[in-house]
Amino acid sequence: MFAVIGNPNAASLTYYGLHSLQHRGQEGAGISVLNANGDINTIKGEGLLTDVVSDPAILGKLSGSYSVGHIRYPSNGAKGYDNVQPLMMKMSDEKFAIAYNGNITNTIALRSELEDQGSVFHASGDAEILVHLMRRKKGAFLDRLKASLLELEGAFNYFILHDSGVYAVRDRKGIRPLCIGKLTDGGYVFASETCALGIVGATYIRDVMPGEIVYVEDGKIMSTFFTDDCLHAICLMEYVYFARPDSDLEERNVHSFRKQSGIELYHESHVDADMVIGVPDSSISAATGYAEAAGLPNEMGLIKNRYVGRTFIKPTQALREQGVRMKLAPIPSVVKGKRLVVIDDSIVRGTTSRRIVQMLRDAGATEIHMRVSSPPIMYPCVYGVDTSHREDLLAHQLDLEEMRRHIKADSLEFLSREGTVKALQRSKSLGPNCGVCMACFTGEYPTDLSAESFKNGKQA
Ligand code: SF4
Repeated sequence: MFAVIGNPNAASLTYYGLHSLQHRGQEGAGISVLNANGDINTIKGEGLLTDVVSDPAILGKLSGSYSVGHIRYPSNGAKGYDNVQPLMMKMSDEKFAIAYNGNITNTIALRSELEDQGSVFHASGDAEILVHLMRRKKGAFLDRLKASLLELEGAFNYFILHDSGVYAVRDRKGIRPLCIGKLTDGGYVFASETCALGIVGATYIRDVMPGEIVYVEDGKIMSTFFTDDCLHAICLMEYVYFARPDSDLEERNVHSFRKQSGIELYHESHVDADMVIGVPDSSISAATGYAEAAGLPNEMGLIKNRYVGRTFIKPTQALREQGVRMKLAPIPSVVKGKRLVVIDDSIVRGTTSRRIVQMLRDAGATEIHMRVSSPPIMYPCVYGVDTSHREDLLAHQLDLEEMRRHIKADSLEFLSREGTVKALQRSKSLGPNCGVCMACFTGEYPTDLSAESFKNGKQA
């Protein structure tokens, strides 16, 4: 998500900010802008941002200084145009454009209660629940917003473009990342990751804190909290896989964490080998750390077709299989006759790992030792990462040796939970109340899941 507050080039800046965040989802993209007449205009559609806005000159038609933008990763809600954000909601007395990242875990109860009271939902995702909750309440905008946020459970970052401005919200555990930047030529931006700041000429100010609502008034950043029951629990998978290596999350650089994970992985499970190769792109940093610690060459044994999306975030298994085949290719002259340590950041379903091992063997590698720079994923994510079915998870179905046989590697080891915590601490000290969510590795979920844990028939 990316938003601009108080800059006349809001639409264009949002386009470039979103472009830096395209790795977070490829199913849809959209930009909404509040113009001087108080109208909200939107461009959105399915596919990549560059498909939706094929000619950035079109953004000149979206005049205004306040904007919110979104690229979609469909962890909840059906595919299709209806769930592409921002969602527009025009009432007789106020207008909203909503962009949202995360997963609300008490959706079913809230939605059925709201529908019983007459609310009509336009999409199947979580995004518009907040507006329906606000419409039930009386009082000033911020009071209605705070009271409504208190009713939500789970992970949610919201951008709300309203007649009164742009509001950025982070859930009480800060599960998804969200930061604030200042534009050199006037105004502020909010962004999912810091990698989106530099491209628009913004400098990092700080992260939005768990439980915080941030907005701008008279050119100043304003802050209020909807709850004091807050504790940092940012998603570990953001560090492991999702975020770009040049992003800092909670002021910890993603590349530094991944490199340190590779170092810890070497100390825990090194093996005799000729070279280290990382699975591009998100495992390159961990491979650098492992190779440095091992004193082995860090080679480019796999090449990535940069015009294919990330396999993990493809919505069906058939698309994921096809995605792996299109995405990665070995370099035979590099790997032929070599004993390889192959570093991957995670194993979810095992699709990619199995295919990679086969490709490298076909290319002439003599030994393939798979090393994974995070612990086994054994539990589903309920906070917006699409690993909702336990039966999809290889580490839930199989033990370590069975997984090794499944992917056909000569050896397989994962970084331990303790090693992961060490990597976090060595890349930046974990302050009090500044932890991470590791629920998909430990089963210990940081929010109350008693009301309703899983949606759409998905059970843990
Ligand atoms: S369960 Fe896993 S993927 Fe989901 S928020 Fe927690 S660490 Fe991230």
